[in-house]
Amino acid sequence: MQTETRVRAINCRHFINGQFVDSQNQKTFENINPATEEVLGTVAEGGKEEVDYAVAAARRALNGSWKKTTLQERSKILRRIGDLILERQEELAHLESLDTGKPFALANSIDVPRAAYNFHFYADYIISVGTDAYQQDQQALHYSYRRPVGVVGIIKPWNLPLLLLTWKLAPCLGMGNTAVIKPAEWTPMTATVLMEICKEAGVPDGVVNLVHGFGPNSAGGAISEHPDIDAISFIGEPGTGSSIMKSAADSLKKLSYELGGKNPNIIFADSDLDEVIETTLKSSFINQGEVCLCGSRIYVERPIYDEFISRFAERTKELKVGHPLSENTNVGALVSKEHYDNVNKYIEIARNDGGTIVTGGKRPEGFEKGYYLEPTIITDLDRNSRCVREEIFGPVVTVTPFDMEEEVIMQANDTHYGLSATIWTSDLKRAHRVAHQIEAGIIWVNTWFLRDLRTPFGGMKHSGIGRTGGMHSLDFYSEISNITIKL
Ligand code: NAD
Repeated sequence: MQTETRVRAINCRHFINGQFVDSQNQKTFENINPATEEVLGTVAEGGKEEVDYAVAAARRALNGSWKKTTLQERSKILRRIGDLILERQEELAHLESLDTGKPFALANSIDVPRAAYNFHFYADYIISVGTDAYQQDQQALHYSYRRPVGVVGIIKPWNLPLLLLTWKLAPCLGMGNTAVIKPAEWTPMTATVLMEICKEAGVPDGVVNLVHGFGPNSAGGAISEHPDIDAISFIGEPGTGSSIMKSAADSLKKLSYELGGKNPNIIFADSDLDEVIETTLKSSFINQGEVCLCGSRIYVERPIYDEFISRFAERTKELKVGHPLSENTNVGALVSKEHYDNVNKYIEIARNDGGTIVTGGKRPEGFEKGYYLEPTIITDLDRNSRCVREEIFGPVVTVTPFDMEEEVIMQANDTHYGLSATIWTSDLKRAHRVAHQIEAGIIWVNTWFLRDLRTPFGGMKHSGIGRTGGMHSLDFYSEISNITIKL
């Protein structure tokens, strides 16, 4: 049964210097509902002029009202933002579901509560951490003095729009910076509502600014090359990261990157198969597989390979693909036509490469409109197939058998990516041994997606630059001077 849509989609305008505004040239683009292909509303299309205006407001606020706030005051504001997100939880979850095509239930149970927690976590964290100090015998005392890095550009992807924006914005504001945000063009709504929330929570005008638009030659490009932006926090594809790096080079901006993943899920024969299958269902297909941490390359030790395939396929077929607002939906719609076509292209590649589509690989019956795809399991692919090597970012996984530990480590590392990995085994020594050899920034043993926001999060190789979480985020959003006092 489809839940009643109590929340209406909104038209999205820029938020600059505390006001919602249109583009100077009045340009807009349409926001499409991926579940129905209908127009949800319009979005202001910003460019260089709007970014210039937003950066000027952010610079004034940085050196004005925001600079005068104390840590306690900023902590209180962050807490209030988190509270207001929870007060508007259902509305935000609806908007997120309409924009992305993800199940409402998922947005309501994970995306929005976690967005609130990002603010609550940093509200506590910023007032609990101290500063480094080193006493050098009787000669000197050295200590670290932190100040904001300045005006920060935050450029966001579409898969977890509010969750990821708040993950960056909370520590950014907590450290006393100001921000110019560009949400992904396909998912502009929750970021727009967040601006209302920031204002209501007492964030002074100009501290948080939002410019809608596209990437190159649009708002994203204007942020990347703006000479008065000091740092960029980017989440998205490695190719986009590379373009931003080139644009940012002239003004030597500080960069934090969280990029894509093609994450191995390694299952040894001694693992608890019931738990493996239930968790692997999530790590493969949650959010339509549109999560950077999804374990899209599954490697199974040969003695349990056949049993795994048959039980995993059986459970996958039970997942309900459906309208994002329907109560029982497990897998919603992919975010856009462009992305849907791209994911389907990989299924075609798998077929041409001799792969076996164990289940899925097609549009579910009964859906004439919307970007729906059945959860798809593919086997029998060579490790050089593009399906095994490239990030598909949809409900599509490949499964490959292995015989030796060294062999699976080599295959797991045989990629440019290095974001996350999961290892399933009941052998503790093996868990450590394999984890230490896998080239990934986040490694789970006998679990997946379990996060503690104090721990370092990020990827190696083409999956990212730097780490976020706890002190790691505060380090990015601050400049540190070492001060040496002769004793
Ligand atoms: P994308 O790189 O296409 O776009 C991300 C953002 O960058 C969008 O706002 C876009 O408008 C903007 N952009 C595009 N080109 C630009 C340019 N030249 N200059 C400035 N801005 C530009 O990524 P996407 O398709 O929105 O997101 C999916 C990708 O994000 C996947 O690769 C996924 O793995 C990755 N991701 C990573 C993490 C992580 O934590 N590592 C989290 C979520 C998503």
